[in-house]
Amino acid sequence: MAQKRVKVKFLSMTNDAVNLIYSSCRQCYSDKFAADVFYKKGEKNLVGHRKKEDFIKKIIKSGHESPLEHVSFSFAVEGISRACSHQLVRHRLASYSQQSQRYVRAIDFDYIIPSSIKNDSELLKVFENSIYACQEGYKRLIELFEAKGIVKERANQDARFLLPMAVETKIVVTMNCRELVHFFKVRCCNRTQWELRNLANKMLKITKEKIPCVFSLAGAKCESLGYCPEGEKFNCGKYPPGPKLK
Ligand SMILES: Cc1cc2nc3c(=O)[nH]c(=O)nc-3n(C[C@H](O)[C@H](O)[C@H](O)COP(=O)(O)OP(=O)(O)OC[C@H]3O[C@@H](n4cnc5c(N)ncnc54)[C@H](O)[C@@H]3O)c2cc1C
Repeated sequence: MAQKRVKVKFLSMTNDAVNLIYSSCRQCYSDKFAADVFYKKGEKNLVGHRKKEDFIKKIIKSGHESPLEHVSFSFAVEGISRACSHQLVRHRLASYSQQSQRYVRAIDFDYIIPSSIKNDSELLKVFENSIYACQEGYKRLIELFEAKGIVKERANQDARFLLPMAVETKIVVTMNCRELVHFFKVRCCNRTQWELRNLANKMLKITKEKIPCVFSLAGAKCESLGYCPEGEKFNCGKYPPGPKLK
């Protein structure tokens, strides 16, 4: 068993992203056919890359976000807790493939320690003792299941009821750019649980590098609003509180 830290690796994204988003936007406002006129993969395009980027930025600002749905990103994530992944997978407009606790035995599971616990020896002792107790219980159940001839998959699926929320998980996540912009709005916010916020910020950094014209202004919702919509009580101080919701 070992402590783990979040790791996010870019796996893949839709090819020719700027061209594709641009062509989709232009199709909305043109009597021409996007495939003939705007989307010229591999050919010298009539419209320069910079012009396309500017057009995309303008469209996003106007709230016309559906063209962003044509481009998706896939990330491999490890070193997050099940507490974190549970919040992540609440985002419905995405695809997930998560390491199974039925097929992958967790005898020597890795785990995540919140810094509030890691930096306090008294809390850390309670935390680690509890983790070891879970591990011992899990191991013992597996031994007993095996002694009773219960097959591996069945033993794993029932023994996992003893695994803590801190247990490390691995997951592949695919989101389109529109969902990513939304995800960053809610999950890069300082009020978001630290682990999910860390993950969102790492994904944001990658997407900003890959398609700056879509993601340069992405981030917590206060970044685009210029104020904090969370109200005075939850305001982190980065931006002033905005108008109260009625
Ligand atoms: C500050 C904060 C506190 C939270 N607290 C809790 C909590 O206490 N308990 C809890 O259970 N969850 C909580 N959540 C999770 C939250 O309720 C959502 O499950 C999560 O944010 C993901 O869903 P989403 O609506 O943001 O968007 P996604 O699922 O990512 O979908 C993107 C957008 O698509 C649209 N959409 C998607 N599905 C539908 C649909 N079925 N109908 C209509 N529109 C849809 C919506 O516009 C949505 O914003 C919290 C989230 C935040 C950010």
